[in-house]
Amino acid sequence: MSLYGDYDPDNIFARILRGEIPSVVVWEDEHVRAFMDVFPQSEGHVLVISRTSKARNILDVEPEVLTRLMAAVQRTARAVETALKPDGLSLMQFNGDAGGQTVFHLHFHIVPRWSDRAMKGHGHAPQADPATLEALAQRIRAELD
Ligand code: 5GP
Repeated sequence: MSLYGDYDPDNIFARILRGEIPSVVVWEDEHVRAFMDVFPQSEGHVLVISRTSKARNILDVEPEVLTRLMAAVQRTARAVETALKPDGLSLMQFNGDAGGQTVFHLHFHIVPRWSDRAMKGHGHAPQADPATLEALAQRIRAELD
């Protein structure tokens, strides 16, 4: 899918938000959800999405939604850092097929990084088991401010 076009109400994150597909939630409120990426590029890879917006990418998101999303990204990243003590954090966001996007519901990736571990490639990581993801989510959740 290109940068342009209509929001697909059956994209995988829309289905996750409707509860049709399970997800390991780190935290959520009425505006946003932070949940574990099921194909983590590193241990503790978290995605942050809007629960209300039909934005597909950074170009069509409402500014007030983006403001809430970025605050949620920072809150989550701080908890990831406290819980997992990475050496660094990569924040990623892709737009359009050619930009590397595969799910067309705007989202931000928080990927903890360690100096002595390579990050797996985007779209090339194996699926994680739900119990492992839940254990990580619990550690992150416990550090939320
Ligand atoms: P994008 O390539 O659009 O930036 O990122 C989509 C992300 O969604 C990828 O990192 C991918 O691993 C993740 N993903 C794809 N399907 C699912 C799923 O069913 N559940 C979860 N939690 N993450 C998913």
